[in-house]
Amino acid sequence: MAAKPAAPQHYTDLCKLLFANSTLSTIDSVLNWDQETYMPPAAGEFRAEQQSALSSIVHERRTSSRVGELLAQCEADATLTTDARTAANLREIRRDYDRMTKLPTGLVAEISLVQSQSQEAWKKARAANNFKAFQPWLEKIVVLMRRKAECYGTPASGELYDNLLDQYEPDMTAREIEAIFEPLRPRLSELVTKITKSKVKISDDAACIGATVAQQDAFARHVLKAIGFDLNAGRLDTTTHPFCSTLGSHDIRLTTRYGSPSFLEALSSTMHEAGHGLYEQGLPTDQFMGQPLADAVSLGIHESQSRMWENFVGRSRAFWAWATPVAKKHFGKPMKATPEQLFRAANTVQRSLIRVEADEATYNLHVMLRFKIERALIGGQLSTKDLPGVWNSTFKDYLGVKVPSDAKGCMQDVHWSFGLVGYFPTYTLGNLYAAQLWEKINDDIPTLNKQMSKGKFDELLKWLRTNIHQHGRRYTATELCKRATGKPLSPEPLMRHLQGKLGELYKI
Ligand code: ZN
Repeated sequence: MAAKPAAPQHYTDLCKLLFANSTLSTIDSVLNWDQETYMPPAAGEFRAEQQSALSSIVHERRTSSRVGELLAQCEADATLTTDARTAANLREIRRDYDRMTKLPTGLVAEISLVQSQSQEAWKKARAANNFKAFQPWLEKIVVLMRRKAECYGTPASGELYDNLLDQYEPDMTAREIEAIFEPLRPRLSELVTKITKSKVKISDDAACIGATVAQQDAFARHVLKAIGFDLNAGRLDTTTHPFCSTLGSHDIRLTTRYGSPSFLEALSSTMHEAGHGLYEQGLPTDQFMGQPLADAVSLGIHESQSRMWENFVGRSRAFWAWATPVAKKHFGKPMKATPEQLFRAANTVQRSLIRVEADEATYNLHVMLRFKIERALIGGQLSTKDLPGVWNSTFKDYLGVKVPSDAKGCMQDVHWSFGLVGYFPTYTLGNLYAAQLWEKINDDIPTLNKQMSKGKFDELLKWLRTNIHQHGRRYTATELCKRATGKPLSPEPLMRHLQGKLGELYKI
């Protein structure tokens, strides 16, 4: 058999350059992670200087003409484009390069500065429940985001918002999302209304047993190990806002928090972040570090992985059949609940004000509200000064709850203050992708529930590795969904999942 011909020099050089750039950018992740976990508070100002210095070096290198030249040479090389994987890699390198070079350096610097100032202003304004103090900053962010979106040119849809969405969910448009969200919203509202009116009341009392932080941590690690998260190539630490961050190949950091009276809260946030972490650990970084083939495809797909472990596994009856004795082992005598009691406790549904605390049934209504509002802010149909009024009335309409303050209303999330516009819809896309993948997984692995009830998750993880993780950005999210499930994204699997599980629990 003839040996595989060596890759041409221009391709090898391009990949080397991308590798070097990604090593620099992962140093920024180390700084970020440290800032969120162990950095002393007084170090904040200098840390901002370090990060700003590093990010300008990374941006310069990523947009350098050398990258552009090598990329053009590779694109013109027919020997490269015949290989489907390399062709996909080049397609995505081109996408990244074009996006980055279209942004003038001045605008990048201005956005970075306003982002950190506006985030500080948001923190203070939220603490003081003073929207008027935040509004000028939000206005600046909206103007800057429009300018940023304009740099990418007019999208095919004609809607500027799509250029922002494209950063997080490539190739998805606001109109496509609207077409999925709009019919789904009244169905979810109706389900939530039925649950609230049901005679069956479910609470998480069974899990409020005064478990210590050390006990919860030991339990979380037990679960992490069982589901296949490699703690030899990752860590679990604590923060106020849990997250998952990739510090490098074989270095995936998860964080969680242990503050609630119920041990379920820390468990579900750990499982959520572990879902992100398992995806990152499954990307082919040994082969392709720095290249799109080793990157996650979209935020929606990323979130599908976290939601799957958090909700489809962690809030299932099968999971609690296994996890209840494990919890008993870690929490001792106060843990008296049966598997059925913990399964019910994990599926408490109630209308609430705060998105990050929302359950599976109400969560997407919170997201739909934000999508509608940010789209109107960028489109110019809504002005920032009218935000609280529109937020409150839409919230009442979608969730049936009166918003008592802007701090618990339109100022509750950090995203807009930080310029993350176009990000919110990916949360619900993640739930939808997760549900659709879950149905296919259960078709492919008919004994999955049995396996989970014995603490066996390896076949599930293998399925995800094969069908999702190993591909990186080889396919777009839309293509990946079709390849993995045989169908385009649909809201039906999520509705079937919620109606099936919650319908039985709440007898509706
Ligand atoms: Zn997430």
